[in-house]
Amino acid sequence: MHLKQLDIIGFKSFKNKITLKFPQAKKDRLNMTAIIGPNGAGKSNLIEAISWGLGEQSLKSLRSKKSEDVIFSGTKKKIRSNLAQVNLLFSNEYVSSDKKYKEFSIIRKIYRNNDGEYLINNSPVRLHDINLLMAEANFGQKSYSIISQGLTDKIITSSSIEKKNFFDEATGIKQYIYKKNQILRKINKSKDNLNQAEIALKEIKPHLASLTRQINKLSRKKEIKMRLFNLQKIYYQETLYRLNNEIKLLKEKRELAKVEKKKFEEKLNKYRQESKKLISNKINTEYEYNQEKYQEALRKINQYKESKLKITIKQSEAVNKKNNESITQAEVVKHIKDIKKYQEKFVIKIKNTNNVKEIDIIIIKANNILAKIKELLNKMSGENIKKSKKDYFKKLEEERETINKKIEELNKTAKNINKFLSKFATKELNERKKLFSWQEKAQVQQNVINNINNTINEFNISLAREETRKQVIEEDIRQEKIEINTTNIVKPANNYTINIEQINNLKRQIELIGGIDTEVEKEYLPVKERYDFLSSQTSDIKESLISLKKIEQKLDEKIKNKFQKNFDKINQTFNKYFKIIFNGGSAKIIYTKSKTVNNNSKINDEYYIKNHTEEKKEETKKDEIEILANPPGKKIKNIQMLSGGEKALSSLALICAIISINKPPFVILDEADSMLDQANCLKFIKILKELRKYTQFIAITHNQQTIKIADILYGITMDPKSGASKIMSLKLNYSSK
Ligand code: ATP
Repeated sequence: MHLKQLDIIGFKSFKNKITLKFPQAKKDRLNMTAIIGPNGAGKSNLIEAISWGLGEQSLKSLRSKKSEDVIFSGTKKKIRSNLAQVNLLFSNEYVSSDKKYKEFSIIRKIYRNNDGEYLINNSPVRLHDINLLMAEANFGQKSYSIISQGLTDKIITSSSIEKKNFFDEATGIKQYIYKKNQILRKINKSKDNLNQAEIALKEIKPHLASLTRQINKLSRKKEIKMRLFNLQKIYYQETLYRLNNEIKLLKEKRELAKVEKKKFEEKLNKYRQESKKLISNKINTEYEYNQEKYQEALRKINQYKESKLKITIKQSEAVNKKNNESITQAEVVKHIKDIKKYQEKFVIKIKNTNNVKEIDIIIIKANNILAKIKELLNKMSGENIKKSKKDYFKKLEEERETINKKIEELNKTAKNINKFLSKFATKELNERKKLFSWQEKAQVQQNVINNINNTINEFNISLAREETRKQVIEEDIRQEKIEINTTNIVKPANNYTINIEQINNLKRQIELIGGIDTEVEKEYLPVKERYDFLSSQTSDIKESLISLKKIEQKLDEKIKNKFQKNFDKINQTFNKYFKIIFNGGSAKIIYTKSKTVNNNSKINDEYYIKNHTEEKKEETKKDEIEILANPPGKKIKNIQMLSGGEKALSSLALICAIISINKPPFVILDEADSMLDQANCLKFIKILKELRKYTQFIAITHNQQTIKIADILYGITMDPKSGASKIMSLKLNYSSK
């Protein structure tokens, strides 16, 4: 790698764009460029342009107070620029052919408003990328790549940290330090992320635990509900199937009972009609008519008998009046009283009885009394009375006879009627018997019908009960939202595989779990996702932290080893060049590393210094680098104790040793030879010739010896009118390259 072209626009005194083209590499070495120019022409500005272009941050190094000071500030004739830009075009050809790019560019820009950017191959990059790239190319920005007059002082008077930094670059470990710092930044960021993730996890954990508990409850509830639902489905199916069967069976039974009932009703109707026929009005009217006639006859007979009795009484009274002599009056009175008693008895009896036989008996008894009265009357009657009374008696007798005849007639009539009635009664009895038998039969039917009705009623009650149960079940099904086609229930595999107790048990379990806010489900998922995300992030970070630590450890190893190795090499070469320059003597660098320094925190770069200055100072205090130089014939002394020239020569020997070991792509010599006398300058040129095998040199010099070995010469001048630097390529007359 070497610098192929340099373009500067608006940087410091370079108002207008200037282009410096560097010659191609030779077969066995890289090119060397010499730049000459009067004081104040802008030579240092050109070097600063290169170091600024490669990312220099130190305002002091850039001889500026503010970042924008690097932009052309304008003169009386030229207005100021708003942009400073430096383009560095590198070639990869010489050093390595397997690099990705044959050439690549680095561009840095800054605007007046302080906006700026870095580009590699025209793509924006970070400063860190440029630093890393240059470090990988062993371009010692801070140490050996720009060798100025003040280098001696810089090396000698620098602090321990600066020295360490110088040797980090010198030993080529800077790139690993950048990498390590990058890793440390990643570790710190990962630790921050891990910390944040762990805090978030800690916060989320109890909430998630509570949500999980509720979710588990909810899923248990759902699972039970599902089981309940399935059980209910089977249970309801079975119940409905059974109820439907029961209802169907009851309806069939009821229909059969109704058919049966109809049969009995038909029979009952038949028997009732038969009975009705027997209880016709006709029979009753005829019977009643004769009955009345019979009663009438009896009544009349009684009336006649009464009349007869009256006649007898009349006869008796007549007898009483006549037969006093033959019978005592008291006796007659007594007899008449008896007769009266009988008469009253008879009258009452006759009145109260319809019985013909009884009436006959009464009549017989009355006749006896009559005979007795006759006898009494005979006893009582005298001859005088006999005659007058005879007619009277005759008349009474005739009356009696008439009555007797009538009674006889009436008895006959009554007898006939009675005959009829008794005949009728027999007939009626038979009829009644028949009627009774029909009625009895009807009653039997009625009883059967009643029984059937009872049975039908029982069926109806059972049906109502079963249908109500069915309705209840159907309502339950609706309420439980169970999808069962209630109109078409298929027979379940096994009847009643599930009992209601199982269902109630599940319902109790659901009740026990209690109500859970359904919002929990919505809340749970994002919380769980966040928890999982944080958990996986935490473990990812932990894993990456482990691998980062491993990388850090490896880098530490590499830094340590390379530092030590290259430090030793530099030491040897320093001694060699010192001997060349001083024609003998010896020189060495002593590095005393603090044994108490914590390896993990031992970082030595700008980033770390910026951020951990105090801490770093503490830690690096004991890291000491001492340069010892022993010119021929003198005791080994600290470089500070040498003369100005000796210091400069010693520093050059050291820098050359570093260049020799690190082989930077290019080195800028900013009047590094100005302090050397001619003899020393030749020695220096000898070393340069050796070094340019691997390193391109750009030398700002007034020394003819140095110019002689250059491949190209540029001259910088300051245009006094515009105040801007100009550049021109000058022909070289020398041929000793
Ligand atoms: P010497 O040989 O004396 O060291 P030199 O060639 O190195 O001189 P420089 O220091 O590079 O000269 O250039 C200095 C010149 O650049 C000065 O004239 C200074 O005014 C000018 N200069 C510095 N910064 C700016 C700027 N921002 N804008 C314009 N001119 C600037």
